[in-house]
Amino acid sequence: MTGDPVLREAQHAETHAEPSDEDLDKIARMPRSVSPSDLEPNPSVSVGYPNRGLLRFGMRINDDKDLQVKVGSLDSRHGTGELVRLIESAAHEVAFRYPRAQLTVGDLSRPGGGRSRPHVSHQSGRDVDLGFYMLDRRATPVNVHIFVRLNNQAMGKQWGNLYKFDAARNWALIESLLSQPTTDVQHIFVSNAIKRRLINRAVKEGANPEVLMRAKRVITQPRHGAPHRSHFHVRIYCADDDRPTCKDRPPFYAWHQRADQAPAVSVLKPNDS
Ligand SMILES: [Zn+2]
Repeated sequence: MTGDPVLREAQHAETHAEPSDEDLDKIARMPRSVSPSDLEPNPSVSVGYPNRGLLRFGMRINDDKDLQVKVGSLDSRHGTGELVRLIESAAHEVAFRYPRAQLTVGDLSRPGGGRSRPHVSHQSGRDVDLGFYMLDRRATPVNVHIFVRLNNQAMGKQWGNLYKFDAARNWALIESLLSQPTTDVQHIFVSNAIKRRLINRAVKEGANPEVLMRAKRVITQPRHGAPHRSHFHVRIYCADDDRPTCKDRPPFYAWHQRADQAPAVSVLKPNDS
């Protein structure tokens, strides 16, 4: 492997077939994954809290060309309709920008929710573990359908192969998760070392400032428990049509408008007194 980081980055960009300006323009004009069915209420109901709850009429996430549920998670692939659609649309957006990218999906909830070992949460259909998009030792994007634990250099070994965190595709995933118009993400748990790489990538790409601000707030290394070095743990807020059966705890961010709230006063409007 060449030691020159600039050259490596250029090779990396090439192997990724990163989008041209024309492609980016096309992406900007893409409808933001809103189809009429997204706007219809769906039958799933998240009951209670993520760490003490159930899932009624959950939706099963299916493998497709852009995502694969990993072995070991096949019994925990149910979520609310909102969560399943969010994962699917994010996987499709990443694959649109980076052809052949496949998202590795870990546990959601069991078909009826409830306690799902070894997790404490993952009970009410609003949590999902997502694997990292990876590069191989030559910095070529690969699809690894397992979780690989990464060190502080964002590298890890599995079955004798060396893998490195792919900041480009992982940022594309986060960007998509945080800009979906119909479903708001409350938490993305991952280690600080990974967070730093994502934010650096976003800044380098000139990411949308609103999405970048959300990423800085939503992505956190859990203060208690595992630091999350092998996957993202993503949690969404309750869907409007699941309240009040569905329960959220703080934090509630200014950009998350809740149906049971007076219209939120946006912190971004300087004229509000
Ligand atoms: Zn998790």
